[in-house]
Amino acid sequence: MRHLIDHLSTFILPHQCVLCRSFADSTNLCASCWSGLEPISDPKCGQCGRPLQHDLPQGKCGHCWLLPPSIERTRAWCLYNDTSRAIVLKFKHGNGLALTPVLASMLGRLYEELVTADSLVIPVPLHRWRYLHRRYNQSAELARRLTSTHNCGLFAPNLLHRHKATTSQAGLNQAQRKQNLANAFQLNDNGKVAVRDRHILLIDDVLTTGATLNEATRTLGRAGCQSVSALVIARVR
Ligand SMILES: [Zn+2]
Ligand SMILES: [Zn+2]
Repeated sequence: MRHLIDHLSTFILPHQCVLCRSFADSTNLCASCWSGLEPISDPKCGQCGRPLQHDLPQGKCGHCWLLPPSIERTRAWCLYNDTSRAIVLKFKHGNGLALTPVLASMLGRLYEELVTADSLVIPVPLHRWRYLHRRYNQSAELARRLTSTHNCGLFAPNLLHRHKATTSQAGLNQAQRKQNLANAFQLNDNGKVAVRDRHILLIDDVLTTGATLNEATRTLGRAGCQSVSALVIARVR
C-alpha cells in the first residue's frame, strides 16, 4: 500500500527542485539547476577519468604517466562545480535521500563500465560518530541502489570501516590530507577474507585530491585484493 501511495504521489503531487524550490520534474531538480551541471564526456583519461582537451596517446593523462595511480580506473559523472557541490551537500544532509534514484541513474552507465559480475561494491565508510549524526551514509545508499538496479556487483557495506575520526579535509593541502587519513580505514575479519583476489569497486560522492580513495585502496591492497576501481558523482578537473 505504501508503495502504491508513493507511486501515485509521483504523478499527482508537483515536485519541487531540491536546490532552488522551483517546479521540478520527477528527478527533483528543475531545468535551470540541471543546466548548471557539467557532465564529463569523452575524451577523458582512461585511468583517472579526468576530462581531457583532446585524445592522448594510449588515452592517459600526464598525471597518470608521471605517478601511476593505484586505482585501476576512476570515473566521475560530472565536474565538481557550484551546482554539483550543492547537490552533494543536499544528498548528504537533511532529506537528501530523495536524490538517490536520480543520482544512481546518472551513474548507471559508468557503473556498468567498471563493475564485473562478482566485484565487491564497497561504499567509502563514514566514521561512526558522523554516521550517528547523519543517520545514513550517502555513498552506501548510492552503492545499494546501483547494485540492486544492475545485475552486476555485490553490495558489501560492512567490510571496510573508518576507525579514525579524521578532521574535515576542507582547507587542507594534499600532504596534510594524506597525513590526516593515514591508516584511517580498516577491514574487519570478514572483509580481509572477502576482498582477497577480488575486484573492488569503491563508491564515493566527491573526488578532490583523491586522498580518501587512495587511502581506502591502500587498505584493500594490503589485504590482497586483485584491483580497485572507483566511481564518484563529481570530481575536480
Ligand atoms: Zn532548481
Ligand atoms: Zn589520468
